[in-house]
Amino acid sequence: MAPVLRRAAQLKALNSFAIDARAERLLELRDVADLPAALDALRAHPPALVLGGGSNLLFTRDPPGTVLHVALQGRRVLDERGGEALVEAAAGENWHAFVEWTLAQGLYGLENLALIPGSVGASPIQNIGAYGVEMRERFDSLDAVSLADGERRRFAAADCAFGYRDSVFRHAQGAHWLIIAVRFRLSRTPRLRLDYGEIRDELRAHGVADPAPPDVARAVCAIRRRKLPDPAVLGNAGSFFKNPLVDLALAERLRVAHPGMPLHPGTSPGSAKLSAAWLIERCGWKGHRDGDAGVHAAHALVLVNHGHASGAQILALAERIRESVRQRFGVELEREPAIA
Ligand SMILES: Cc1cc2nc3c(=O)[nH]c(=O)nc-3n(C[C@H](O)[C@H](O)[C@H](O)COP(=O)(O)OP(=O)(O)OC[C@H]3O[C@@H](n4cnc5c(N)ncnc54)[C@H](O)[C@@H]3O)c2cc1C
Repeated sequence: MAPVLRRAAQLKALNSFAIDARAERLLELRDVADLPAALDALRAHPPALVLGGGSNLLFTRDPPGTVLHVALQGRRVLDERGGEALVEAAAGENWHAFVEWTLAQGLYGLENLALIPGSVGASPIQNIGAYGVEMRERFDSLDAVSLADGERRRFAAADCAFGYRDSVFRHAQGAHWLIIAVRFRLSRTPRLRLDYGEIRDELRAHGVADPAPPDVARAVCAIRRRKLPDPAVLGNAGSFFKNPLVDLALAERLRVAHPGMPLHPGTSPGSAKLSAAWLIERCGWKGHRDGDAGVHAAHALVLVNHGHASGAQILALAERIRESVRQRFGVELEREPAIA
């Protein structure tokens, strides 16, 4: 069966910002057997853009060439010994549904990452993270195919250069890889991580004294539903900027100038992590609106589409925010979503 091709395809329902973009050609990849035909089609009509759940992507124009929507399905336990299991999921699987499936199998480790929108295949791209856990901690390996020449390759963690919301796949040298399956190492033994955010408070509020991993997932979901706008109601891509990592000297200068500023340990020695939300809020952007492009009223890090904003309008607002943070604090904000 050949991959499904649609021309002049609407992308509004395929991106969480609900940007009204149109793909010249949209290919849907449902079966790995269709990969050679899909790669031929991409090469015949470049440039190629890979699309998962569209929840970390901002369309600023109608993408030219071919959009490849990864819809590969399937998940299975590959191996289990000594209470540790190797689990594989195809790239097009919905991330949250996969997390729920692992919990239903009695396999633990992904519970803090419940309810992150998007696909399994995109989870290594920015090494998704939430509530004190990053995907890389449970990652085993992934299979990818080069869009350039069809080479198939298995990536171990060391090949992926995972960092804070980062991996080799976000950079020029890794951008041509199409991820088709990801494997995770999960455990039958719960090792709960409850210290981040309000997880303990949430469990306590529900009278859960001795939580199991599914309780933690439920608590994380409840907190996320309360805090973050639902893309089905208000278009957004979650955090629009990463929390900036700065050197300790700058962190110290800022701490002296702004005594209330939150400061966290950085991911490398000699660095500190600032709160992008705090910096943006201090610049007065929370709840700001430029037409239908806006900053969420409760969460300064989340840019939103109030209805008919274009991606270019949202990007223009993001640039103004970035400039004001640079001017006021001398700190460079880095965008989290991909710009297409
Ligand atoms: C409400 C909300 C909350 C969020 N919360 C979090 C959070 O807590 N933590 C977090 O880390 N992220 C969060 N995000 C961001 C987003 O959910 C993740 O980045 C997710 O992994 C994106 O998956 P996707 O399938 O939607 O990727 P897409 O948006 O489709 O793609 C993102 C990028 O990955 C590339 N890509 C996608 N699939 C593949 C593939 N198979 N092979 C190669 N490249 C691919 C795309 O080309 C693009 O560059 C949130 C988003 C929203 C809307």
